Amino acid sequence: MKVTNFAPGPTPVPDRVVRKMSAPILTHRSTEFSDLLRGVASGLQHVFQTENDVLVLTASGSGAMEAAVVNLLSPGDRVLAISGGKFGGRWVELCATYGIDALTLDVEWGKAADPDEVDRILGEQGPFEAVLATHSETSTGVLHDIEALGRVARGHGCYLVVDAISGLGANELRTDDWHVDIALTGSQKALMIPPGLAFISVSKRAWQRIEESRQPSYYLNLNRARDSFTKGLTPYTPAVSLLMGLDESLRMMKELGLKEIYRIHERNALVTRAGVAALGLNLFARRPSNVLTSVVMPPGIDGSALLKTIKQECGVTIANGMDHYRGKYIRIAHLGYNVAPSDMIVALTALEHGLSRHGYVFESGAGVAAAERVIRETS
Ligand SMILES: *Cc1c(COP(=O)(O)O)cnc(C)c1O
Repeated sequence: MKVTNFAPGPTPVPDRVVRKMSAPILTHRSTEFSDLLRGVASGLQHVFQTENDVLVLTASGSGAMEAAVVNLLSPGDRVLAISGGKFGGRWVELCATYGIDALTLDVEWGKAADPDEVDRILGEQGPFEAVLATHSETSTGVLHDIEALGRVARGHGCYLVVDAISGLGANELRTDDWHVDIALTGSQKALMIPPGLAFISVSKRAWQRIEESRQPSYYLNLNRARDSFTKGLTPYTPAVSLLMGLDESLRMMKELGLKEIYRIHERNALVTRAGVAALGLNLFARRPSNVLTSVVMPPGIDGSALLKTIKQECGVTIANGMDHYRGKYIRIAHLGYNVAPSDMIVALTALEHGLSRHGYVFESGAGVAAAERVIRETS
């Protein structure tokens, strides 16, 4: 697998997975399909580190976010939405759409939510039904401290809902041990299959509340999805080919083991951060995720123009900063268990090329040399 796309999803799809997806499509009302679905659900439990049911939705990751809101919450419920970037902001938008009374904790982009502050808000301005959080905030490259937020939320009797769309399977997330009531992700990030599926785990106590929800829902109704799942079915026609690919990807993840998968991401992150630092550049994230490295552009360099050059002249895609930070920082993803340190050398080489073309003064080759040193030290 050769990686030239360093955007944080869709991630490159391993060859083994591609081959499985080209097999004849199973009918979704067959015992073969039920076996596939049950196998996939058990593989997902492993990656989610949960004993809870993990349900499969045919939707992108945001579909699972919407499912969490419409199933767990009812109009008028009061929640704390933590927003430190574009995706945290999606919780706020979803709550506004469905009449949920959300207090927004606006965390400065580039920073992680402070669990003590969350604790104080929950105590002073409560009661709240739920805390809505993000694991790895892909727009900024920040990793939020879900373990601490889980302790705080549980201490105040709140449900904790976590958007782990980019982080799950890259940075550790212990759904059960960390008191995460709902964790969710999408197919096109660390699971390394194409976009189109979403996965959501629901704790026993959250199911109780979901059963009592006063919010209407149809396609994303989780009770219905669970009823079908107990019979080895999905309520509607699922993206069968993607499930066949997922089955293979989960097998590869089981073969590697979660510990090794986290180590792969950590190593690729360390390699990239070392390269960036050696070029005299700063990270945008104060608490960096192992999913991606966000790099602040030096004075006088427009990130958007830089990325265009890198794409045109090196054939390498690196992602831009988002919203009001477009051009101010760039995002180099190292997302997926099948991404190698040598791939990160490609990204850093392209970055050096672009920087020199845009007049940034640095010691040519310094980023790649520093990255290579980390590869050697961690081998
Ligand atoms: C990618 C991503 C999303 C959006 O997922 P879609 O699959 O595009 O709906 C939401 N949150 C995070 C943290 C993401 O990385």
